[in-house]
Parts: sequence; structure tokens; C-alpha cells
Amino acid sequence: MRAVVTGGAGFLGSHLCDRLLAEGWEVLVLDNFITGAKINLSHLAKNKKFKLQKADVSKPLKVAGKVGYVLHLASPASPPDYLKHPVATMMVGSVGTRNALELALAKKAKFLLTSTSECYGDPEVSPQPEEYWGHVNPIGPRGVYDEAKRFSEALTMAYYRYHGVDTHIVRIFNTYGPRMRLNDGRALPNFVFQALSGIPMTIYGDGKQTRSFCYVDDLVEGIYRLMKSDEHLPVNIGNPQEITILEFVDRIRKHFTNPPPLVYKPLPEDDPKRRCPDITKAKRLLKWEPKVSLEEGLKVTMAYFKQVFANR
Ligand code: UDP
Repeated sequence: MRAVVTGGAGFLGSHLCDRLLAEGWEVLVLDNFITGAKINLSHLAKNKKFKLQKADVSKPLKVAGKVGYVLHLASPASPPDYLKHPVATMMVGSVGTRNALELALAKKAKFLLTSTSECYGDPEVSPQPEEYWGHVNPIGPRGVYDEAKRFSEALTMAYYRYHGVDTHIVRIFNTYGPRMRLNDGRALPNFVFQALSGIPMTIYGDGKQTRSFCYVDDLVEGIYRLMKSDEHLPVNIGNPQEITILEFVDRIRKHFTNPPPLVYKPLPEDDPKRRCPDITKAKRLLKWEPKVSLEEGLKVTMAYFKQVFANR
């Protein structure tokens, strides 16, 4: 019952560590902190079943002792982050994935890859089912993330088919909650930071593009169920409640008495126009669906951001 979590100091990784520990696992986190942060795990510092090691998973991994599960989360995940670290993003999603799979193979451990809805690119079908192959621009700015994750999926399937590693792939859609970085550049933290600072809230494009936001606890529940399942093909985990960015900003503005005005900026290149998970497969195989409404999730997240803002 020992799990290695790459990228465990990130937003999702840290929540997953909490869950693994609660389920009785020992946890070793490997993270190079380019987007993750020790503070996300500081509450676990005294936990004897938890260890944090600074490591770049794109370099060969040395892990002593038994390992029962390798969960590969390491990667920048916010568009501004992967645009800032394009080569590191490609490396961790290729060499890093190979190193994580090799670790699972050597230790006879199970393996879970956190993939992404970005595999669908700017989708021509909505909602997106797992069978959809996607519409990705390989050489656009987002290609470094999208293609690295697509490569990771292909490599994971190769280790499953060729080496018989017990692998799992989750395609994660937009997720939010406490421990997101207030400056990670994604829509929610950006809007909240701008509202707290009293500066205009930036809408990219006309704001009619859609996203579907899943609260982190729901996501972790879905991942945990997938980890324990027999499914080897990718499974979408996300909240199918689809809203436009304009509606989303409106929901956030309601949490402030005097929100700043909106300002329109150009839409980033290849920004997907729609994104909504088809979760039929997760419902059928994992008996999973999200439980937390956007209103409830935003309330908790907003309180977290306000506290971080006050203490910064
Ligand atoms: N977005 C926006 N204003 C911002 C940040 C993001 O309008 O300050 C838009 C962005 O163009 C995209 C959506 O919000 O259409 C979600 O962006 P995010 O960076 O959160 O993640 P993505 O879903 O694109 O990976």
C-alpha cells in the first residue's frame, strides 16, 4: 500500500495525496515545484506515512522499496504555465511519462496517468465522449501540452499492451477548488484576483466559449474509483454542467459587493470554443457523477482565495 505520486505538490496532486492517506496508503511525492508548492502539503509534514522528495521526473527516477501504485500527475496544467514552460511540459509528458511507467514496470505496480480534455483540442463534437479522437493543432502554442498528453496516453497503452502493466488513464476536464494558485492564469483564479484587487476582469474573446467546471473533491472521488477499477482505456472525469465564460464571470461577480468592470482581450490562439465531458462511461463503469454544485464549490474556493489574498 505505497503510492508514488509525481506532481503531488500541485493543486490536484495534493488533494489526491490527502485521499490516498485517508484510504491507508503510504505516499511518496516526487515534485520539482515548477508549478507545485510545498505549502499545499505542509499539513502532512508530521504524517509518518507521507514523504516529499524534490525530483524532476523527466530525469531517471530512483525510488527504493516497494511501490504498489504510480500516479503520474506531474505537468504544468494551466495554459499560461505551459506556455511559459513549453519544453519542460513536453519533456514531463514524454520522458517523464516513460520514467513513471518504467518505475511501475520495475516495481510491478499499477499505474494511473492524469490526461486531459485537451486531448480533444478544439472539439467538433460536444459533449466529448472518450471515443472522439480530437481536433488538435500539433504546432500551435497549446500543442506542447495537448500532444505531450496524447503521447502519454499512447505510451501508457503501449506499456499496458506490450508489458502488461495494469494502467489507467483519466481525462480531466476543468477543475477548481482550494490550493489552485491565485496567479496560475486560469479563468477562475484570474477573475478572483482581479475582483479582489479592484482591477478590470479580463474576458478573452467574446466570452461565449464554454467550459464545464468540476469541484476538486468530485474529481478526486472519480480518480480514486478509476484507480481501483479494471478499466484500461481513458475515462472522462468532469462536471457536465456547461457554461459560457460570460456566465461564469457573472457567477463570480455575485460574490463581491462592488465588482470591477469587464474588459475584453483577444482570444488566445487555439482556445477551445466548447468543452463539456460526456460522462456516460464514468457513470456506467465507476458509478460516479459529480455531486458538488458550482455554487457550493465556488463558495468554498472563494473563501480560500480571499484568505490567500489577505495573507500574501
Ligand atoms: N479566460 C478568460 N479570461 C481570463 C482567463 C481565461 O476569458 O482571464 C478564458 C480562456 O480564454 C478560456 C477559458 O476562460 O476560454 C478557460 O481558460 P483557462 O485558462 O481556465 O483553461 P482552459 O480551459 O483554456 O485550459
